[in-house]
Amino acid sequence: MRRSKTSRPHATIPKLRVKAKKSLSYEESSIDDMENNIPFKDIPDDNIEDSVISPDNVDTNMSENELAYEKLTNEESDSTDKNSTEKINEESDYMDIDDNYIIEEVSIEDIDDPYRPLLDATEEEIPVDSDVLEEESPDFKGFDGEYGPYFPNFTSAMIFIWITKHMISTSAYEDLARILKHPRYQKEDITTNIRQIRKWRNRLPLVRVSKHDVPLSSQRTPSTCTSTKSAFTISPLIYLERILKNPMLMPEMYFGPGIVTDKKQEFWHGELWQDSLLFGEDTIENKNGESYRAGEFLKYHEKSSTVICRVRSIVVDETDNNILKLKTDTLISHEDLRNCRSTDNRHTRGKGKELWLVEGKTKLVNLASIEQRIIVWLCDMPEPETYDFYVDEIMYHFDGRWKYRNIAERHRLPCEFIKFKQPQQNLPILKIFLDIYIDDFGTYRNVYHSLGGVYLQLGNMPLTLRKQLKNHFLLGFVPFGASLNDFITPILQDIRLLENGLVMETLNGRVWVVGGVGCTTADLPQGNDLAGVKRHGANHGCRTCNVPNDQYTNSNYNFIKNARFNQQTDKRLTEIRNQNSRGNKEYLATKYGLVEPAGPFNNLQWDRHLQTPQDAYHSMAGKARTLLEATFNILNANGENAFIEYWRSIEKPAHWSRMPNPLRHRQSFMFSDVLKLVMLMPFILRRFLKPHHIKVDTLNNWRENLKIRQNSMVVSKLVTCWAIEAKTLKLAFLTIMTESIYQELQNSLKEEREILIQLFPNNFTNLPNLHVNVHLLQHARNFATLVNTAVGVKEMVHRTFKERVPHTNRKVIELDLTRQYNTIQALRHLIDGCKDHRFNERTNTLKNLSKDPKLHTILSGWYATENSSIMDADQNENSEDTVCHNENFIDLKLGNQRNIKKIKSIPGLTKKLDTNNPFFQDLYKVYRDQLGSKAALLNKNLEFYGSIAYTVLRNPPIRIKLCVGDVVEIEEESEGIAYARIKLIIRHKANNGHYYAFFAFEWFEVTNITDPILGCPLYKIQEPEQMRWFQIFTIDFVNHVPCVHFIHNCTNTCNSEHDEANRNYILNRFYYNPV
Ligand SMILES: [Zn+2]
Ligand SMILES: [Zn+2]
Repeated sequence: MRRSKTSRPHATIPKLRVKAKKSLSYEESSIDDMENNIPFKDIPDDNIEDSVISPDNVDTNMSENELAYEKLTNEESDSTDKNSTEKINEESDYMDIDDNYIIEEVSIEDIDDPYRPLLDATEEEIPVDSDVLEEESPDFKGFDGEYGPYFPNFTSAMIFIWITKHMISTSAYEDLARILKHPRYQKEDITTNIRQIRKWRNRLPLVRVSKHDVPLSSQRTPSTCTSTKSAFTISPLIYLERILKNPMLMPEMYFGPGIVTDKKQEFWHGELWQDSLLFGEDTIENKNGESYRAGEFLKYHEKSSTVICRVRSIVVDETDNNILKLKTDTLISHEDLRNCRSTDNRHTRGKGKELWLVEGKTKLVNLASIEQRIIVWLCDMPEPETYDFYVDEIMYHFDGRWKYRNIAERHRLPCEFIKFKQPQQNLPILKIFLDIYIDDFGTYRNVYHSLGGVYLQLGNMPLTLRKQLKNHFLLGFVPFGASLNDFITPILQDIRLLENGLVMETLNGRVWVVGGVGCTTADLPQGNDLAGVKRHGANHGCRTCNVPNDQYTNSNYNFIKNARFNQQTDKRLTEIRNQNSRGNKEYLATKYGLVEPAGPFNNLQWDRHLQTPQDAYHSMAGKARTLLEATFNILNANGENAFIEYWRSIEKPAHWSRMPNPLRHRQSFMFSDVLKLVMLMPFILRRFLKPHHIKVDTLNNWRENLKIRQNSMVVSKLVTCWAIEAKTLKLAFLTIMTESIYQELQNSLKEEREILIQLFPNNFTNLPNLHVNVHLLQHARNFATLVNTAVGVKEMVHRTFKERVPHTNRKVIELDLTRQYNTIQALRHLIDGCKDHRFNERTNTLKNLSKDPKLHTILSGWYATENSSIMDADQNENSEDTVCHNENFIDLKLGNQRNIKKIKSIPGLTKKLDTNNPFFQDLYKVYRDQLGSKAALLNKNLEFYGSIAYTVLRNPPIRIKLCVGDVVEIEEESEGIAYARIKLIIRHKANNGHYYAFFAFEWFEVTNITDPILGCPLYKIQEPEQMRWFQIFTIDFVNHVPCVHFIHNCTNTCNSEHDEANRNYILNRFYYNPV
């Protein structure tokens, strides 16, 4: 890419280059993302050619001196020139077709992106029809003062020059403005020497960064290069200790037995935590001091009968007063066998001593109902001397019926393969769930993109904390050319220390910590590496089952019986190792689809197949991308034009960043863009698609294959397909799962597979991403939700680091970034109120900063916050003294002040209100009911704004940004959740002299009608004259980021503009906030 050349921030920016920059930055980030995200495909060759720097050059650059670097930049500029004509064409495309497309990375506004000021500049409206992009503005109202007419005063003029010269980003400037305006700011304290300021870093409580040498792979580096390189890591144990001492984090974390609950959201709600003694509980004691452990067999009474079971673990039953119970698998005798004829020899062969293990139907058992312990021999284990029963088969459910398989084909319980050491000292035990994320993309990429990162999360944190970018902890960056295995060795050594347990100092004193890797996430090929399974291209390239690669989408393939079982893989690996010839080793490795020697993860106390879940983010978005491609391919030119027209005009949520044209740029679509587009596709297609938009051959084929007579039915089928796709994606990314949602997800995944293969067999048959469907439900159950193991947010964290690369000295990128990260975490440590053990007696004043509402945004914005997609760019200067009566709503900013003349939507509304105006009456009622002010309102002036932003103080605080036209959900007493559209954002000066902000809403009325194809409910928006609903609300009625989307139910009365007389809207049930 040409980024390194063009992004160097020394050049001044003539405004005309704005466009060139824009297209460049777009191209890069998206191509980067496209390459990142190609699931199951090695980076295609043409991409390698495409990138200016080949991997070989990169290594020269990385390991050699300045000279090589210079050479590299020359090459870049050559090739930039070569492409320049082409590029100009591209630019004009951007201007014409995607005139308002702005590159805006999702939620990464806190990064000092050098492009940002340029992008901000392009937000101004540009006349589309004109050949002139910009020129002197012929008339404007100038400023009067000394620096007029251009600037109001000296300060503004200088700030403008400084911002332009150094390309200061919006967020950087806003932060600076907050500091300068803070009452404690003293200009006398300013140090002019920035080097001096940087040195203060050394005083901070930095964590230890360790260095070790890693060999560079000879395949990837020219032989002239040095053969080792320094790698830098931070130990997971160091983070653990810090986190356990952090008063903002530790009290929010959970350490305890797995919890059985209706609403599954956290790792401890999942099967894996429940069943593993490294995270959950495996022993329980009754009143008589008798203890029961995981893995044991018990008889217990249930109603009037006796049941035999095997204990999986001890769990808290949240649905039954948080009682500790035994989670068990049932064992049944031959009388209870399902789907087994009376003549079957299963009924006689065991002479009453044979039992069957029932899979997937766990039951909770009360301690009080246990009758006795019994001995059962599971026949895949060595035979005990005596036993009461034996189990040779598992009864399991597959494809709608009960089946039998050998007992050896089972996932063993963690208690069977994990050695758990009890603490030597009598200390409380804290069990730690590590979630390791590896992003090692870009082996084939240039220096800038080749950053491989390894990150840590703690599954003991609730989702609200885990999804914050600042709670992703950097373990280190994999140096380019080095292997992950070599890099990660010291980290895994520390994880093994944790598996054995160690004493640690925490907020609550000394404890015994023990734990291990709960799950690892990586994209599809890398996940296979971690599990020791060959990549998807191999004959057995699924890390969860043994499916051959020509059966990936065969719905009859029994992925349960043919799952990869950890003990089976152990055996196979030993078998491969024991071969004496290399040929035999390779033969077996290919036969089993395994990699030998397996990487360092192989030595962990874990189940390598269950704990490397397939990433739902990549597999789901990958499928959607394929469907998008397939759908565009069936459109004729007519259809393409219609699609573009309707795609442009469809109502998009206001906070979405603008998307590039999907038809033209779909190859470079980011996954987050794909997910968003999927939410709209069913509506777009439903609005426009007619048979004459589809290629004739396709229509004929479909009619024939689907046995449909009418073309219009074919069209509905395609819309249905998209509705299923959109529904499946939404279900997969729900952050709370229930038993019925699991079922719904399972059905939806099945429906999705069927219809995709039916409509687009060429695109979907044997697609590995579609194969993943069969495993997703189990992954969801193991980790509570798919979101918990999806890499959406994790990838974003990695991207924030990549974005920082241009700001490093680019020689030892890994070290620079690690050091900068270390500084941020040290500051965070102090601001969160942790004690610095070197200065125990000093009070830490930094922690008070986080309580200062004026500074909140600076401190939380280091990392992206939850909904940071709209910038406060258009805030009005004079709106800063606006307050809310609710003290948890702070830092109000109003933007886009509106002229009352432009607001025609409310009849009779004027800037200065008559006391009899119903609107004024409403406002009075709000003051009376919400603000407790009974006095008549003195001020009758209203101000109107287009947008509002405010922070809601809660843990963690959220920033809400809303515009006129946004729809919000409001808990309503009678209707449950009610929907309303923001019609006005109003500011009014109260009798007490404070300014208060209010919303005026239009409400959506339920109709009880559902759209037959989309399955989405229809609503009617209230008519303007309808004043029977109370309209004005204080801002604290909206206390969370809205997640709702309505689309006009257009009829033929809608043309270029929607017919507002048609008040019917469809609730977009496919809408969610993707991360
Ligand atoms: Zn599989
Ligand atoms: Zn319409």
